[in-house]
Amino acid sequence: MNAKTPGLSKQDARTEAERLIREAMEKKKLAVTKGDTRIEAKCGKCGAPNRVVATKGERRVEFKCKECGQQQMSL
Ligand SMILES: [Zn+2]
Repeated sequence: MNAKTPGLSKQDARTEAERLIREAMEKKKLAVTKGDTRIEAKCGKCGAPNRVVATKGERRVEFKCKECGQQQMSL
């Protein structure tokens, strides 16, 4: 066996694979934290639809109606 074989050894290949997996997981994590939910909230006062962005895990979002300015919570 030639110890000076150019290119990736078995150890290097494994390290490279692990690095790629880790990178993919990091990206996934980022995508999840960035996964804000868009809620179509209807104004309780004038009935106008409002697009509200909720952070992941958040269920009730405070928003101000774009039509009448009513401050309220989405359901
Ligand atoms: Zn309104």
